[in-house]
Amino acid sequence: MKSPRKTLNKNGIDILVVEDSPTQAEQLKSLLVASGYTVTVAANAKQALAEAHKRKPTLIISDIVMPGMDGYTLCKTIKSDEKLKDIPVILVTSLSLPQDVLKGLECGADHFIRKPYDEKYLLSRIQYLLANWEMRRGEKLRLGVEIYFAGQRHFVTAARQQILDLLISTYEEAVRINAELSAREAELIQLSEQLERNVEERTAALIAEIAQRKRAEEEIRRLNEDLERRVAERTAELAAANKQLELRNSEVERAGKFKDQFLSTMSHELRTPLNAVLGFSELLADERYGTFNERQGRYISHIHTSGKHLLSLINDILDLSKIEAGRLELAVESVRVETAFGEVLGALRPLAEKKSQTLSQHMETGLYVRADATRFKQVLMNLLGNAIKFTPEGGHIELAARLMEGQVRVDVRDTGPGIPPEEQKRIFEAFYRLRQSGKTTEGTGLGLAITRRLVELHGGQLGLESQPSQGSCFYFSLPVAPAVSGSLARETASRARAGEPLRILVIEDDPAAGQLIQSQLTSSGYAAVVCDQPQHSAEIAAELQPDAITLDLLMKKPANGWEVLSQLKRDPRTASTPVIVVTVLDQRALGALLGADEYVVKPVDKVALLAAVERCLTTRGGASPARPILVVEDDAPTSEVITELLTAQGYAVATAADGAQARAQVAASLPELVILDLLLPKVSGFQLLAEWRASPRTADLPVFVLTSKDLSREEESYLRTHTESLFRKQQPWQEALVKQLHRVLNLGQLERA
Ligand code: ADP
Repeated sequence: MKSPRKTLNKNGIDILVVEDSPTQAEQLKSLLVASGYTVTVAANAKQALAEAHKRKPTLIISDIVMPGMDGYTLCKTIKSDEKLKDIPVILVTSLSLPQDVLKGLECGADHFIRKPYDEKYLLSRIQYLLANWEMRRGEKLRLGVEIYFAGQRHFVTAARQQILDLLISTYEEAVRINAELSAREAELIQLSEQLERNVEERTAALIAEIAQRKRAEEEIRRLNEDLERRVAERTAELAAANKQLELRNSEVERAGKFKDQFLSTMSHELRTPLNAVLGFSELLADERYGTFNERQGRYISHIHTSGKHLLSLINDILDLSKIEAGRLELAVESVRVETAFGEVLGALRPLAEKKSQTLSQHMETGLYVRADATRFKQVLMNLLGNAIKFTPEGGHIELAARLMEGQVRVDVRDTGPGIPPEEQKRIFEAFYRLRQSGKTTEGTGLGLAITRRLVELHGGQLGLESQPSQGSCFYFSLPVAPAVSGSLARETASRARAGEPLRILVIEDDPAAGQLIQSQLTSSGYAAVVCDQPQHSAEIAAELQPDAITLDLLMKKPANGWEVLSQLKRDPRTASTPVIVVTVLDQRALGALLGADEYVVKPVDKVALLAAVERCLTTRGGASPARPILVVEDDAPTSEVITELLTAQGYAVATAADGAQARAQVAASLPELVILDLLLPKVSGFQLLAEWRASPRTADLPVFVLTSKDLSREEESYLRTHTESLFRKQQPWQEALVKQLHRVLNLGQLERA
């Protein structure tokens, strides 16, 4: 075997590498070859032994974990082989466990290299081992050392140098590992410092973040508080505003009620006297009650025209304010278009005729609309009235109705001046009138405003097509309604009336008053005799046998009118002679009770007096004296107008000035019919009606209601079911009332016959 000293020159140094992993073997081999060594590789212990015998290598480097024989056993085998035992063996081991070191010592390994090895370290170890090999070979002393480790006994027989080497290599390894550890520790310290710094930085950042978050939370809390405070303030404000609103609402409600009350009072208070003005001016114009000169006639006509204008203005204003306040209720029913057209045309035809205009109507028969009959007619009246009013003499006006898109379309067309496009919107505003019509034609500018709202209340739209100088067409559509069987429009023969010059005794102690009455009567063709001695009047009447007597009630003694009246009625010769009480006292009921046939209040109104006389004379001499019509009306002038109207038609009339009187009179004797006002002192018309309908005796008593009250829908429907007819003072009612009276009473007579 060659001496390693000789082979320090690496040429010729033969190293056997025992390594089962070819890559590791190759890696180690190339390292060693690069360092100038000759290298043989054996893949296992068996091969290694064979190679060792064959080559006698300078050094064996063996892995430990190998298939088959491991590194320790290989080493032990070599060391116990006489031929091989001097070859130094380096075991490549992890040396991580004390057992490994002991095993290495036991197997007689010469050196240990920790795996994974540092290349430089490996080479230096090889050199060191080879350099000291000779010296070691000289040391023959083998020590036997017994070592107990982990409860096991190990006997190490390695040479001192071998143990030293092993320990040194272990120590070196430990130093190396220590150095490594120190480096690692330094690294770790660095890392830990870095970590600390990081932690510090992160902590600082976190602290800053937390502080910021705290500030943000604080801010949020503050904002929340602020918000809460504001919400509380706003809630308080809202509550205050609500309270204010409630107050306002109740004020508005109160104002609304007040307005309602005001409207209903005004409508009553304004219309009542106006009715008297209209009624009397109409009677004055009637030539039957005497003639006026042309100027007086004109004045009366002015009174009548202005009264009518005022009434329509009042009606319009009240209507408009009711509509605006949303308080106009419609009594919607099936309304026959033909009937409504007929009534409206009938009412307005005289106006058209005055202007020589032609009025025509076109409609499909059997058309019905869903509408409030009165309001529907009001709309037609307004539109047709305007057409007549604004169309010049000789023009043509047409009223048409047809089915269109499932609705009834109504057109009111005229050949008038037309309306410029820029004015077409404005004419529907309240009080707006075209300049051209302002001065010459009467009107208030309310008609179209009301008409449009009425149409809208019915769910329709009022439209206009017009071109200046080409006429206008106002149109609207209403829903179609099913046909209903109309009221019995039975025409009865008109009442025959007789008239002959008659003798009338005027009992009046005031010569001037007597003379006035006498002249009023004689101017109407009566033979009037004045008696100014009340104490003899009954006697004179018995002798004279007049056809009627007028009697003053307040005469000077010795006999006043009441006494004369009862004398006359007691005396069979004069008991049936009609007595017309003419007095300043308005005690109709008492008069009626004492047998007065008529009651005229002073100052004597010629028409009223003549009407009373006429009534008496017409009803006198009938086989069975007709039962009177009871007029229940608290407004004296209105009562008188009605009385006049009825007596002029030959009806006997009794009057009651309040509900209590009416109740008493009906209880005393049943009238033929009652004309009933609703707003009465003491007992209201509604109450009377309810009482009469509840009693079998009066259940069928015909009642006409004549009122200026604004009726609610319920009131109206109640009246329509419990009375024969309903007339409103705000509309011309006289003619309609008389007609209806004829109808009802004649029907009654027919039925009785
Ligand atoms: P009034 O008839 O009281 O003036 P309306 O409101 O009914 O008020 O009408 C407003 C205005 O519209 C009238 O003053 C008139 O200038 C115009 N007008 C209405 N109808 C017609 C029509 N058929 N032809 C021409 N102008 C009309």
